[in-house]
Amino acid sequence: MKNCGELRRKTLPDAPQTSQASPLVDDNETPDWTGLEAAGARPRSSVSLPNEVVSGVLPGIDYELVEEVAKELYIRALKELPPDVAEALRRALQRETHPTARTVLKTILKSIEISETNRMLICQDTGLPLYMVTAGGPWALDGCRLKAALAAGTRRATLEHPFRGSTAHPITRDNPQDNLGQGMPIIYWDFAPEQDYLEIVMVPKGSGSENMSAMEMFTPADGLGAIKRFVVDKVVCSGGNPCPPGIIGVGIGGSFDSVGLLAKKAIVRPVGRRNPDPMFAALEEELEDAINRSGIGPMGLGGDTTTLAVHIEWSYTHITQNPVAVNNQCWAARRARARLWPDGRVEYGF
Ligand code: SF4
Repeated sequence: MKNCGELRRKTLPDAPQTSQASPLVDDNETPDWTGLEAAGARPRSSVSLPNEVVSGVLPGIDYELVEEVAKELYIRALKELPPDVAEALRRALQRETHPTARTVLKTILKSIEISETNRMLICQDTGLPLYMVTAGGPWALDGCRLKAALAAGTRRATLEHPFRGSTAHPITRDNPQDNLGQGMPIIYWDFAPEQDYLEIVMVPKGSGSENMSAMEMFTPADGLGAIKRFVVDKVVCSGGNPCPPGIIGVGIGGSFDSVGLLAKKAIVRPVGRRNPDPMFAALEEELEDAINRSGIGPMGLGGDTTTLAVHIEWSYTHITQNPVAVNNQCWAARRARARLWPDGRVEYGF
């Protein structure tokens, strides 16, 4: 496959070797960074570059390594349940009073133990492949090559393991059997100037829970009560379909499209780690309590445990709107994380 770097070199002329200043930037002018630093921006003079930076060349990414990491992450995510999720299920069993619910929770925990011991998949649904990439520090990044590497890793994990092909054309239902196809894998990008590594989080999203997700555009006049009712109603109406008890991801604010991503980011947070804002942390607790009092219970068969946690992510929104999204995550709340460092180290985690 031709990569973007090659293509660009062939189609674009080399940058002119000139000492002329850009007409758009006055190097003698000190820009006003007030407010921008709060958003993560830093003046050029405060950016510390690593030792590898020689003659203005930034350290690059090893895209073959990214492909390996993408493959490994998909396999790990499908086989190793994050310890915080397993621990939350064990705690739920200790609290649970409903006999059927206790049996269901014990069966889930037994299933996790069997998959761990035998290195089997936690669930047969290999999900939609989704990667959240956060680039930090002064890396030289070729986004197109990174995207191609994530796709290649997804394909290799699927064919070499092998995994079930879970992606399909939305109209013809054609299944390429490699978990790719138009728009796959799903990739979200972010940038964090304070981190020196490249972080990739893989989330294979099962359809049982994803199908029970919803979004609603509220207005400010609807108030907080409407948001609470929407979240609780959505979970109650979903019953056992999303394979509860899992994580209820809630996005509040942003726009029609970004609120869904906020809800998705909320399910990736380790179980029970509260939103750092006390107001949203209190709302998480209140919703969790209301949902667990619904009596839906594990797998919808009744009980005290309908959710392990409610997580909220939020952002500012338009003065006349208040979008809210719910992204359901099942008990098999799978995720795997890798950090790639400039010296070639890779750290795996959850
Ligand atoms: S919703 Fe989750 S537990 Fe249920 S079938 Fe899908 S991946 Fe498996």
